[in-house]
Amino acid sequence: MVDRTEQQAYGTPATVHAGGEWQTAVSGATREILDPADGRPFAVVAEGDEKDAELAVAAARRAFDAGEWPRTPAAGRAALLRRVADLLVRDRERLGLLESRDAGKTLEEGRIDIDCVADAFRYFADLVAAEAPGRVVDAGSPDVHSVVVHEPVGVCALITPWNYPLLQASWKIAPALAAGSTFVVKPSEITPLTTVALIGLLVEAGLPAGAANVVTGPGRTVGARLAEHPDVDLVSFTGGLASGTEVARAAAPTVKKVALELGGKNPNIVFADACASADGFDTAVDQALNAAFIHSGQVCSAGSRLIVEESVRDRFVAELAHRAARIRLGRGTEQGVECGPLVSEQQRAKVEAYVESALAEGAVLRTGGKRPRPAPERPESGWFYEPTVLDRCHREMRVVREEVFGPVVTVETFRTEDEAVFLANDTEYGLAGAVWTTDAGRARRVAARLRHGTVWINDFHPYLPQAEWGGFGKSGVGRELGPAGLAEYRETKHVYQNLAPKPVRWFAG
Ligand code: NAD
Repeated sequence: MVDRTEQQAYGTPATVHAGGEWQTAVSGATREILDPADGRPFAVVAEGDEKDAELAVAAARRAFDAGEWPRTPAAGRAALLRRVADLLVRDRERLGLLESRDAGKTLEEGRIDIDCVADAFRYFADLVAAEAPGRVVDAGSPDVHSVVVHEPVGVCALITPWNYPLLQASWKIAPALAAGSTFVVKPSEITPLTTVALIGLLVEAGLPAGAANVVTGPGRTVGARLAEHPDVDLVSFTGGLASGTEVARAAAPTVKKVALELGGKNPNIVFADACASADGFDTAVDQALNAAFIHSGQVCSAGSRLIVEESVRDRFVAELAHRAARIRLGRGTEQGVECGPLVSEQQRAKVEAYVESALAEGAVLRTGGKRPRPAPERPESGWFYEPTVLDRCHREMRVVREEVFGPVVTVETFRTEDEAVFLANDTEYGLAGAVWTTDAGRARRVAARLRHGTVWINDFHPYLPQAEWGGFGKSGVGRELGPAGLAEYRETKHVYQNLAPKPVRWFAG
């Protein structure tokens, strides 16, 4: 049973928001949101279904076709986005805590997420504010004025996952609004709280009614209806490969624009030269730890495949396992905790099954591979799992090929640069990867050959709002962030104006 006072303290109503109104789900259903650190409910949201999706799409459609937002000049849209960023900063503590409890991340990670969300709003505000209104094209005649303009795409359906709930939503909401589009967002059914809260901030910032709508509820009802809806012009989805494929299939008959940000099986290549000095070794191990275990590995770009040069493997893996075993697991809000639980019981069961299959296929367990002992900061009812290092892995293993999305790193080795590149690219995904080396030429050569949307050299995980994010292969279609991330939410139109019209006389009559 949820403590109502606690729910009110977070300020997230158990309602959907359509057409500027907060209202209960049409069916009246609700869902309890569970805290992954103890499995207990701590908030309630509306459990929407197809009918709520219908209402929200109708509201977004009206707001686009007849409302003021798509006709608001760029300077006005930028000003609103900046107000939202200021409100996010004002509410950083509340939202950071909400994200920590909902997704099971540490409070500090929750706060950093909110900072990154504010940065995304500011970035897209600056981008549209600085843009030229169109590109004049030389039509080869003084009697023709030809210009290419970018217009908002229309009504956008935005479907988001549970690992970075507000961050992933903001990478869609900020550019959609910057472009002048209207939207319906459907957050993950298990982590909807900060997205609902963000809609409150958009309203407070003065966004016209109907431009922003949120429907909480399951993917198979709300998400599926949004993806197939004929009044939706674009669907932008972040989540797993299986659901992303479903979304693309549902969207196909209406030929709407589709953007997909899917999973990854990301290589972290370590050359022996990077480990030659004591500092180099320490940095490479530290970053491999961060790459694999931040947010318990529930990161699309997690460095879950360590590909290390054979000559340094034993030393590297021993140190990695030693440090992984010392990671302090617990409730994200507890002082000194470095890593939280997995997001759900199902997610932990999935991770356990992958580790079991890896051991059956011959992997050698260096550390982890089980649930931790309960402790005051780590109740038995929480969904914790120890950081796990699996040595002696090879490319045929399921754990190497499929996205585990948990605190598990596999170790493969190579002897030559070609072999390292081959292993790194040996995946159906292509989201991100890293290379560690002190040889600048090799770093650039390897980076150029990696078939991944982001490549880090001597680093892991940083992203920039001004640089595109997205994947090759089955990691997705389209890009978020950067100018391309704004372009997703637009249509391009060529306006050709004849300043001196006369007959063409193609037809004699
Ligand atoms: P998921 O695919 O289970 O769910 C994602 C969203 O899709 C949820 O809101 C869900 O309700 C909805 N959904 C599910 N089935 C649907 C359907 N048939 N039609 C419409 N909507 C549907 O993913 P998840 O478990 O929430 O998130 C983890 C996945 O997200 C991982 O694979 C991870 O790699 C990926 N991810 C990718 C990125 C990226 O930038 N590429 C970022 C974060 C997460």
